Amino acid sequence: MAMSLPGETGQLPFGDPLVADYLVVGAGAAGLATALCLGKYGSVVLVSKGPPWVSASSRAQGGIACPLPEELDEHAEDTRRAGGALVDEGVLRTYLSRVPDAFAFLEELGVPFERAPNGSLVRVREGGYAHARVARTADHIGRSLTVALTRTLARAPAVRSLTYARLLRILVHEGSAVGALFARRGIPFVVLARTTFLATGGFAGLFARSTHAAHALGEGTFLAWEAGAVLRDLEFVQFHPTALARGRLPLPLLTEALRGSGARIVDEAGVPLLEGIHPLGDLAPRDAVARTLYEEGLRGRSAFLDLRPVANLRQSFPTVWHILHRAGFDPERPVPVTPAAHYAIGGIFASTEGRTTLPRLYALGEAASTGFHGANRLASNSLLEIFVQSLLACEDATRAEAPPPGAETIRRARKVLARVPRGLPDVPKSALLRRVRELLWRRAGIVRDGAELRAARDELLRLRRKLAARVSPEAVPFLPDAAVVGTAALFVRSALAREESRGVHARRDFPRTDERPRHTLLFPPARPETWGWGTADGFPSPEEGDLLRVDAKGTPNGFPSPSAFPR
Ligand SMILES: Cc1cc2nc3c(=O)[nH]c(=O)nc-3n(C[C@H](O)[C@H](O)[C@H](O)COP(=O)(O)OP(=O)(O)OC[C@H]3O[C@@H](n4cnc5c(N)ncnc54)[C@H](O)[C@@H]3O)c2cc1C
Repeated sequence: MAMSLPGETGQLPFGDPLVADYLVVGAGAAGLATALCLGKYGSVVLVSKGPPWVSASSRAQGGIACPLPEELDEHAEDTRRAGGALVDEGVLRTYLSRVPDAFAFLEELGVPFERAPNGSLVRVREGGYAHARVARTADHIGRSLTVALTRTLARAPAVRSLTYARLLRILVHEGSAVGALFARRGIPFVVLARTTFLATGGFAGLFARSTHAAHALGEGTFLAWEAGAVLRDLEFVQFHPTALARGRLPLPLLTEALRGSGARIVDEAGVPLLEGIHPLGDLAPRDAVARTLYEEGLRGRSAFLDLRPVANLRQSFPTVWHILHRAGFDPERPVPVTPAAHYAIGGIFASTEGRTTLPRLYALGEAASTGFHGANRLASNSLLEIFVQSLLACEDATRAEAPPPGAETIRRARKVLARVPRGLPDVPKSALLRRVRELLWRRAGIVRDGAELRAARDELLRLRRKLAARVSPEAVPFLPDAAVVGTAALFVRSALAREESRGVHARRDFPRTDERPRHTLLFPPARPETWGWGTADGFPSPEEGDLLRVDAKGTPNGFPSPSAFPR
């Protein structure tokens, strides 16, 4: 297969499916790392709706968790403490045991980690950490990782990148994922593969205040569910307490490492806002800080970040310095901050190595729910998860090869291509997206209650019905708007079902935490035909499929534990 650069928009054989060994959807850190690894074993097609530098990964600031062998117990304890009794012990142990492999991979990539004169990694402390354990490259770990990954991928002859292409459908044949349908500038195309890896990120971009933008709308989550994968704990969305309070999305992040270096959250009068709220003060876990700032905001008390105690701000935090400079803020005065949706903890239910309940579909990175983060993610654990999980996924999928797409699959793919409407928009209507974002922020945001969540659900279902008025009924399932509204509605459905407060999920009407920690599972809708659509109006309603609350330690009758998910 021809070599191509990530970000390339090369020619496609429209009308005929593209066939590869592996299909990776999403070009954030999870997709890039997985494609790189798989490229050693076979041909890879890497498809994403944006280039690698427009992703959550490229914007990561603080760093990546890097516990040394003698610190694994302490790191496990910090992860558990943040995770609200829902951290999966098996996943935690497996991931921590592979930290050295993940860092060996990053060293090989040439990621320029900060080092002390003796060559050891410089590590900083972040919120929720007992000690400094986060490796960094100044305050732009995401940029460093993205540059290292894309440079290396450009030299990987087996990986072909197709950018600006939107996922429309995961294709399922005889109960297994066989590839996916995409569209670029309104023109559909199909990629068929032995195994499909979904690394489409989270859905925190669905909130009016968010550190994300259009790369994180969660379409992949809805489409995986629609194709037959179980989703888990969608209600757990982490809000970062200190985004710069300015108008446009994505709101720039003022990394937690600033508070690790002495910055303080204060009110208009300069009074520390977090004193007496939590024993860790300014370094309390994110959910506690975000909720305090939100509640204080409702009482009319605004939050500011006082950066003056940070030594050498410009040298130590160049990204933050530039953000403030560009936005016209003087770091010598406290800058206004707001909590903002930041990380989707829940997602496609996946095993340690990314297997889902749908055979031959893997879910990776923020799109997946492995149980590593429980009900609240410890800062900088997400990038660690990505680099461990992508290695495990690659090892797992290449251990026992799935069969290549057969003649019948190819014939069906051609039929699908002939049927899909052309000329549909590549992005959701901006008015609809604005409406969904306002709705989720106001009615399903940091502190929730049943009445507000029900109102959000009803409004989303109304919006969904209105889509049919915009295009012909058979075109509805292929509108980006449909998947966006679908993910938002599934998230609200999960939030409504969790009648307790735990981790990042705070219910005003259910403030207590249940003694029995439970997961929320969303089962996929019934699929009357194997190509993934075919319900009455051509697209399943987010109200379809069972919702089960299951004990964290058990699995429902007849449902396999993640370690037994099919390849
Ligand atoms: C501002 C910011 C700072 C952060 N800082 C840190 C940090 O310091 N440490 C840490 O551990 N974590 C941090 N995080 C979280 C972490 O960066 C993300 O969780 C992680 O990078 C997610 O990686 P990913 O590859 O799963 O998804 P992403 O990086 O979001 O990539 C998703 C990819 O999927 C593609 N895609 C999405 N939908 C579709 C579709 N429908 N069709 C085709 N392609 C699609 C996108 O174009 C993109 O290429 C931060 C996040 C943000 C936003």
